[in-house]
Amino acid sequence: MRLILLGPPGAGKGTQAKMLKEKFQIPQISTGDILRQAVKDNTELGVRAKTFMDVGQLVPDDVVIGLIKERIRQRDCKTGFILDGFPRNIAQAEKLSETLADMRVVIDNIIDLEVDEREVIERLTGRSTCLDCGAMFHQISCPPKVLGVCDGCGGKLAQRPDDNRETIRERLKVYLGSTAPLKEFYMKQGNLKTVKAKGSVEDIFFRLCEMIE
Ligand code: AMP
Repeated sequence: MRLILLGPPGAGKGTQAKMLKEKFQIPQISTGDILRQAVKDNTELGVRAKTFMDVGQLVPDDVVIGLIKERIRQRDCKTGFILDGFPRNIAQAEKLSETLADMRVVIDNIIDLEVDEREVIERLTGRSTCLDCGAMFHQISCPPKVLGVCDGCGGKLAQRPDDNRETIRERLKVYLGSTAPLKEFYMKQGNLKTVKAKGSVEDIFFRLCEMIE
């Protein structure tokens, strides 16, 4: 199964993608995670990407398109994959369509996680992520058992550097200007499904799975 998850920052794409990955045993491909790892490793890509990520801007298309083209051709993607955070604009979506056509594969589900802006800001400002395993927590809706420590692996929790109010505002602006138009792009192709991303993580996952199966 090949799936694209759309939705604004904070819609829960990463959380849901991780759960779908377990259920369907297919890789989650998150351009955000790939870029954050590159920043952590201080690679050439990471150094370039960081300047954009720190201010909530999109990393240039040539960089992310190159990453995705290489990743979806890897062996573990043969039976499917979940794209989380890609495409982020029409140019990326067009390149993705070309690449998939070359590979003679199709996307089975394109799902928009719908959530309102106020909720998004609340989720992002209270969010913390495990620096080791990437598990996510929220100070109100999903607090860790021990403050600052991951329930799963015991790793250290930290707020993402771009989860501050100013950068969140910019990321939402970028979402509205560049990413939200993808809904119409895919709707015109008759491909888009929408899931309300409100309520508990489990409720959202249930609705998502119902939509897929
Ligand atoms: P995310 O984890 O998906 O919220 O992404 C974090 C940051 O990584 C974004 O604010 C962008 O700077 C960058 N990024 C992630 N995915 C993309 C993409 N498909 N195109 C451009 N930039 C991206």
